[in-house]
Amino acid sequence: MINYICNECDRTYPHDTLEFKCACGGLFNLEPFDLDFRKNSTDWSMFRYFGVLPLKGMDEVVTMGEGMTALVPYDSKHPNWLLKMDYMMPTLSFKDRGAAVLVTLAKRLGVKKVIQDSSGNAGTAIAAYAARAGIPCEIFVPGKTSPKKIQQIKAHGAKVVLIQGSREETAKAAYDAASDKDAFYASHVYNPYFYQGTKTFGYEVFEQLKDDLPESFILPVGNGTLVLGVYYALCELLDAHLIKQMSKIIAVQSEYCAPIHYAFHNESDPLSLKNNVTLAEGIAIAEPKREKQILEAIRSTGGDVILAPEHKIAAAKKELADRGFFVETTTAATFAGFFDYIVKHPEQENDRFVLPLCGAGLKSE
Ligand SMILES: *Cc1c(COP(=O)(O)O)cnc(C)c1O
Ligand SMILES: [Zn+2]
Repeated sequence: MINYICNECDRTYPHDTLEFKCACGGLFNLEPFDLDFRKNSTDWSMFRYFGVLPLKGMDEVVTMGEGMTALVPYDSKHPNWLLKMDYMMPTLSFKDRGAAVLVTLAKRLGVKKVIQDSSGNAGTAIAAYAARAGIPCEIFVPGKTSPKKIQQIKAHGAKVVLIQGSREETAKAAYDAASDKDAFYASHVYNPYFYQGTKTFGYEVFEQLKDDLPESFILPVGNGTLVLGVYYALCELLDAHLIKQMSKIIAVQSEYCAPIHYAFHNESDPLSLKNNVTLAEGIAIAEPKREKQILEAIRSTGGDVILAPEHKIAAAKKELADRGFFVETTTAATFAGFFDYIVKHPEQENDRFVLPLCGAGLKSE
């Protein structure tokens, strides 16, 4: 099986470790493995890409048929803006891609309990897949999380621990609880298996565009699970000589919580945000743990990090709804950022853009 490797010191850890980070404090990645991405291509779910996932066999997989979402033009005037329907998932967000792979690992390890912290959707996804695998689950969420997301987590029988504090304080509480030796920290931030699941987003687009990729992906970024997942797919496709060039990753942050934006542009953060007041709760991550990796990934695609103006998020949500797409507010922020970007970049008028609909409208106010 594939081992973990520390992102900082290159120390390796066996595949069945319950450690969730290196002794040096570094975060884990996975060692490289063989690539045969159409190995299971008759399976109509993201496990079609079984050949590039760190799994033992299809029989161990915890799945509800997630993935294989449609790619739909924004409207007839913009046939090159391709929306990937990742809100059509078992728990109504793209986090199911990561949760399916990570909970498969938890089941393989025979853990007694999974712990996770989230601003909502990752917690919901882990709760659902843990329920399916029969593993008890505890989800830590900030007190301000949408009541609908909390309700969704509870519906799966998970224990919800509300933390009256920031997203970072919530993560700290979960991290402390995860030091219990019977608990598995099913973190979408720490555990690289989650990113192997989100990687399938990139493989699907590659097949949907008939073995090609768009000029750019416009992706929301908070903790970077989708940005890094797509980046891994780009790297692997390039290594396998299936593409000649990577797509640009253009990441979107909320104007009110934009640490990656300011780091990318080497500017100091004017608000040095800790208060997460943005409407885009799903990307309000003031201290992204994988910031260094995210910056390297975006830079090596020749990409960019842009801002979603807070006062344009609601209008973007309406623009999408007017075209039939009811998305959660965080997803509207991606489009608010993109609409500004495209006005400033008329030279990219004929480029193809892939934009994910990450979460369903019923999840937020
Ligand atoms: C999780 C999430 C994001 C951001 O993903 P990161 O992994 O934090 O970068 C964006 N939109 C929605 C709806 C989400 O649930
Ligand atoms: Zn290390």
